Amino acid sequence: MITGKNYIGTALSAKGDVTYKTFNPKLNTENQNTFIEATPAEIEMACILAERAFHRFKTYSGKDKAEFLNAIADEILALDDELIQTYCSETGLPEGRAKGERGRTVGQLRAFAELVAEGSWVEASIDTAQPERQPMPKSDIRKMMVPLGPVVVFGASNFPLAYSTAGGDTAAALAAGCPVIVKSHPMHAGTGELVASAIIKAAERTGMPNGVFSNLNSSGIEVGAQLVKRPEIKAVGFTGSIKGGRALYDLAAQREEPIPVFAEMGSINPVVILPEALKNRGEALAKTYASSITLGTGQFCTNPGLILGIKGDMLSNFITKLSEEIIKIEPTCMLHPNIIGAYKSNKEKALAQPELTLSVDYASEVQANYARQAITTVKGSTFIENPTLHQEVFGPFSMVVQCENATQLEQVISNLEGQLTGTVIADNNEASNYTEVISALQNRVGRIIYNGVPTGVEVCPSMVHGGPYPSSTDSRFTAVGIHSIKRWVRPFSYQDWPNDLLPNELKNENPLGISRLVNNQQTTMKL
Ligand code: NAP
Repeated sequence: MITGKNYIGTALSAKGDVTYKTFNPKLNTENQNTFIEATPAEIEMACILAERAFHRFKTYSGKDKAEFLNAIADEILALDDELIQTYCSETGLPEGRAKGERGRTVGQLRAFAELVAEGSWVEASIDTAQPERQPMPKSDIRKMMVPLGPVVVFGASNFPLAYSTAGGDTAAALAAGCPVIVKSHPMHAGTGELVASAIIKAAERTGMPNGVFSNLNSSGIEVGAQLVKRPEIKAVGFTGSIKGGRALYDLAAQREEPIPVFAEMGSINPVVILPEALKNRGEALAKTYASSITLGTGQFCTNPGLILGIKGDMLSNFITKLSEEIIKIEPTCMLHPNIIGAYKSNKEKALAQPELTLSVDYASEVQANYARQAITTVKGSTFIENPTLHQEVFGPFSMVVQCENATQLEQVISNLEGQLTGTVIADNNEASNYTEVISALQNRVGRIIYNGVPTGVEVCPSMVHGGPYPSSTDSRFTAVGIHSIKRWVRPFSYQDWPNDLLPNELKNENPLGISRLVNNQQTTMKL
């Protein structure tokens, strides 16, 4: 049942007087439940509890944490229809998408459970002592990854399950041994509270310390800003806009003790269509891209917002066909009034830029909160000169850049800000003639796709979801897949430490049977 209250550890709390409601964009009306924003005292209490919980939680075994993560997955599934209906009413997204995202969320939790139950992820490394070494004896030194401390998680409105309350950031942080405080997204506060209740139930059922998880409501940015400034907080996970991510990053850097902010932010995901492919299958590509641009009303961080080609009849035909195809697609509803408002104003801002041509804009009447898809086009030189054209228009909007030649194509790519993905569409080995273009693209992105679409992010160990700034604040890490756990840990060494006082991961007997680097040899053997 949704109460509208905050979870401060296991306690439901509602001491504040700032209230708000979520919105059903499909029905264009407010949902029933009232949510109560967390007060500064509640924020402080959640942080103090998280810090206390950390001292116990960090000592829990991988198997204990796995039990907790699997229990969260079970409790989320047990929420059943109430969760799905709440998700749909707070987003306007269809039931199929809600169930798919729930499956992904549960799958992520179970993948982290498996990772920590096995245990080798801590990258244990042992260099044994050499007392006889000349001219100086060598100490025994052992290293492993340890958790950073309490983490604050901000989710984006477009993934109410998979990148929110029990999403990738939370699952990875709990797996690492870090308590989590979620700053609930105001636009899906009911979905957030239900998932938070599942986490709390799982924590109680598996004997986790109180404070290992809290969920705080807020209708504006103040609660999040206060959380980032609290001294108990040691890292931040953020998924959302560049503006929001950057504001929190700056705030964290200004603290007396600066802390890392792993922000996954916006991206326009360039797609390079090489000439042979354009000639051979321009029409089919136009159809495919019309679907990809409008998928989920364009509300994916990997939406193809930028299509790059070399000017000529083939590219002109492609633009015409893409415009014809995209206009055939029925407009769909966006997540909430703020996001449709941002779409309209960002689109207007882009359209007001000199030398940008509007190829097509959905003209017929649309319902409230439904987005009109649009395709624009611009010359390569104009795009290079005007950074405003590089900004994300979050929604069903894309821009085709017509470059003079391959050299200008490479210049356009080199002038791009960092991106989550880059796509190359090529035929008949033509990619090998564009090595410089491809190399430039590789420099600007976290993931490169061959003959596909960027939408759709597989959850698997080899996935990189992140990229050079501003697509993320730290391109060395991924936000998707089991390796995202590395954001929440730091390496820690023991020197000449007694064997029985070492953590199990580093003991001579290797009681966990994990894979370790022992004197430069990877092995599961004991010493
Ligand atoms: P958003 O407006 O940035 O909000 C995300 C969260 O951050 C919300 O809880 C929001 O709180 C909070 N927030 C924003 N600005 C803040 C500030 N200055 N101080 C403190 N908290 C702040 O993003 P959104 O509109 O929900 O999501 C759409 C954006 O997310 C798009 O740009 C999309 O590309 C990006 N996205 C990226 C990824 C990725 O993995 N890279 C995935 C999904 C979405 P309030 O709502 O209370 O302000």
